[in-house]
Amino acid sequence: MKDLPQPGVMRERFIGAVVTQMRQAKANDSYLLLLRFDIDGFRKLNEQSGYLDADRVLTVLFSRIKSQLLENELACWLGADEFVSLLCINNKNEIESRVSTIYALLREPCDISPVSFQPRLSFGVALYPDDSLDGGELVLAAESAQQYAKTRGGAQINYYSNKIHQQALQLSRLEKDLQGALRRKEFYLLYQPKVDSTTGIVKGFEALLRWQHPERGVISPLEFIPILEENRMIIDVGDWIFSEVCRALDRWKKAGVEVVPISVNVSMHQFKQPGFVERLVDILQQYDVETKLIDIEITESCLMDDGQENIAILNQLKSIGMSISIDDFGTGYSSLSYLKRFPIDTLKIDRSFITNVHNRRESDNAGIVTAIMALSHSLHLDVVAEGVESAHELAFLYALGCRTIQGFLFSKPLKEDAVLELLETSFSMAGTLAKVRQQLQAKELTP
Ligand code: C2E
Ligand code: MG
Ligand code: MG
Repeated sequence: MKDLPQPGVMRERFIGAVVTQMRQAKANDSYLLLLRFDIDGFRKLNEQSGYLDADRVLTVLFSRIKSQLLENELACWLGADEFVSLLCINNKNEIESRVSTIYALLREPCDISPVSFQPRLSFGVALYPDDSLDGGELVLAAESAQQYAKTRGGAQINYYSNKIHQQALQLSRLEKDLQGALRRKEFYLLYQPKVDSTTGIVKGFEALLRWQHPERGVISPLEFIPILEENRMIIDVGDWIFSEVCRALDRWKKAGVEVVPISVNVSMHQFKQPGFVERLVDILQQYDVETKLIDIEITESCLMDDGQENIAILNQLKSIGMSISIDDFGTGYSSLSYLKRFPIDTLKIDRSFITNVHNRRESDNAGIVTAIMALSHSLHLDVVAEGVESAHELAFLYALGCRTIQGFLFSKPLKEDAVLELLETSFSMAGTLAKVRQQLQAKELTP
């Protein structure tokens, strides 16, 4: 259904359609934007230009809003000069641009010859699921936002929740700022050690992206990677990440230290971009880095997306000598059969299962980690526990047989120079491990 068919369709029907779309959005984990708008001073237009011309303006507005609809989106003319529209978006950073594009288009002059009429509009915007989970209430929310726009003089967009507007604005600003970030050299990488908790030896590092924003300071990848994914900038940034990892490996090697594999996070669009493996090989050759020094971290949900093709890419990566880790394991997908089909080396247990794993109140976590350990054992996979912060978590994981640990307990992500220092000096976190042991011994726990 592209839109509800006729102008004048009743509000109830529209709400029914909103409810249907809400179910779909819930299933897809996406958002709905409800727009409600009317013309400021419509009565005056009617009086001055006559009903025929006013109707022409309304028809133009309706066809303009319809021209902006994508699949499954709706527009409805509720009567008089009242319109509603429902937009489907995957990401909150789309809010600002979708709303302002439609607003700008609707405000373009309408030709009602011999004069031209420039509509002034009051726009109310509400968002599902943030503003309401109920179809009728969401329409009401957009209506009250529209009313508020009117009371403030009209000719403006008003969001039901100011918080959402602030978020939408911030996301669209971030998106703009991200445009030149690579060129301006605002990205850098940190490296977090993965440690063998039996010996304290560093087995590898995970490369983690950071953005030094000129005004806001360092921004977490959780905030900006979804935007990079959305506008496909992740392809260029992803290439840069690989070059940067290879450059660092080359530098550490030239400094005469023994290097260990670096895990690189690869996001969905990067992985699926044609020529992904070839580009990696090019970058590695450029820096003369051995493929076995690169481990690719990829999430389950990314792999499940379109099975056969992904297996082929993974096989290619394996055949050139890289290893593959499944990141955030346990959070993405319910079927485990893919573990047999995909050429995987390591499961990284998500931090959410590690936090307080030793605590009886979190017994589900202990159950999940135990099950993952059994699974990895029978499928001959390595396991890394992510986000280990306390000695108690470490002792519990150790008892379950999970020995490779990544987390603040051993080390936060480190700068390139600090990695070199670590590799040059001890190559191990034995000092930290000894302290952890002392703590545990005091409480009669191992290791
Ligand atoms: P991830 O790949 O699961 O990375 C692990 C995250 O957990 C990192 O957050 C790390 O700093 C954090 N962490 C590690 N140990 C602890 C701990 O003991 N306690 C707590 N509270 N956190 C811990 P970070 O660096 O903020 O990265 C977040 C996510 O952003 C990553 O999750 C990954 O999905 C994504 N990301 C980071 N760098 C890249 C990148 O270069 N490319 C892509 N595509 N994604 C990246
Ligand atoms: Mg990761
Ligand atoms: Mg992870």
